[in-house]
Parts: sequence; C-alpha cells; structure tokens
Amino acid sequence: MTSEAAEKLEEFFGALAGAPTPLLLLDYDGTLAGFRVDRFTARPWAGVPDLLARIQRQGCTRIAVVTGRPAAEIAPLLGLDPPLEVWGLHGAERLYPDGRRELEEAAPGARQALHKLRESLQRDALGGLYEDKPNAAVMHWRGHSARAAGLIEKRTRQRFEPLAQLDGLALLEFEAGLELRVGLDKGGAVREIISEAEAGAPVTYLGDDLTDEAAFRAVNEADGPHLSVLMRRERRETAADVWLRPPAELRGFLGRWLKAGIRA
Ligand SMILES: [Mg+2]
Repeated sequence: MTSEAAEKLEEFFGALAGAPTPLLLLDYDGTLAGFRVDRFTARPWAGVPDLLARIQRQGCTRIAVVTGRPAAEIAPLLGLDPPLEVWGLHGAERLYPDGRRELEEAAPGARQALHKLRESLQRDALGGLYEDKPNAAVMHWRGHSARAAGLIEKRTRQRFEPLAQLDGLALLEFEAGLELRVGLDKGGAVREIISEAEAGAPVTYLGDDLTDEAAFRAVNEADGPHLSVLMRRERRETAADVWLRPPAELRGFLGRWLKAGIRA
C-alpha cells in the first residue's frame, strides 16, 4: 500500500468515532465471496458472515449490498438474520430487509427491444453463458479459452451495440462479460443511499469489478468522510482510494470497523 493510501485508510477509520451513522456498502461476487461458474454456490469467504453479523448487532452502521445479481439471491448466500438491504441488478432493483421490493421500469420502446433480444438469447446463447435478468440481457465468457471468449464477445457486441443506441438502454462492461440493460448503475445506487443518510455520514464502498468504478466515483464525491476500496486479488487501474486483497484484508477491514467506536 502506498503511504498516501495508508493515510486515507487511517483518516477514514479515525473519522468513524462520533460521526453520524456510517454507510458500509458492499459488492458481493469477488468482494465478499470468490467466483464460481455456478453462481449459486458462491458462498462468502470464511469469517465474513460472522463479522457482518457482529457489525449488524452493534446496530450503529447502515450496511447494504450493491450487486449485479437479482437482489433475492444474496440473503440465502450470506445467511444473515435479519437479511441485509440489497440493491440488485446494479442498482435497478431495491430489496428492503422486510421484503419490500422496488424495480425501475423501462420506457416501452426499450422494454420491447430488450424483450425480443432476451427471447432470442434464451434459444441461442451465441456459445457463451447467457444470464436472463428482468431488466437486462447478460452474456458471460468467463472460463472459456481466449479464442472462444473473443468469438463470443464479438457475436455479443454485434447484437448488443446497435440496441444500446436506443433511448433507455445502455451497455455495461464487466470482467469477462457484457450486459445490455435499463436502470440505475451502481453509482446511481450509491448516490441514492448517500442522499438518504444524515449529512456528513461517513461512507465506504468495497468492490472488485469494472462496474464498481461508478460506485467508487460516487463515494469519492461524498461530502462526509469517505473511502473507496478496490477489493481484489490483482491490482488494476482504478478510481478507488485504496487496494485491499481478499479475504484476509477484508476480514481485517471488517474487524477494524467493529472496533472503530461508532456511536450507537
Ligand atoms: Mg464483484
């Protein structure tokens, strides 16, 4: 860690004591859990659910997961009681701990074009792993050889890019995949969460993927104390303030949060 990053980390934890209820915002895949081709088996890293449960029990942090997955997939994997608030579909969906759910609606033209594309990809996945979402078509090529992945990406772009020109539809690039979607991105979700918090509330966001960069930028603009964290095995070019490696440094971060003297 550079001395500048270490300083930012110290400064942020120093600001937690006595501040308004802080926001602990977390991506799921790659951040709290390792990747699995079968995503329903992607359990959190050992010790992580317990640390989150302890932060929850302290009752002085607002925790939310912000994920590209449908929101309902997170609670069974994390196993926390009560479940956490989850923003799913990169922010287009919001699931409250009490089960209430909100989904952003698309304009009719965009919805129709997306519907047709989803139907066609359900029949023919272009050689990739197709994931169907209520607000998006998602193609994955993780796990394929470089050559096969290149071919799937080319075919996917040919289908997705013209539709991305339509009003209300946008492309979302992530590692080993491409999504065509409607709705808020993770940056929009983070801004929304910050806007609901007390003025000057500290905020942090932990994420690993390219889609988390919008969330990092939203955190970096916050008025209160803030820290954006790239949580990833390998370093990459990022807008995040600091880079930490899971799972050991994730556990260290959450353990430190527990002892930060946040007011109840
Ligand atoms: Mg991720």
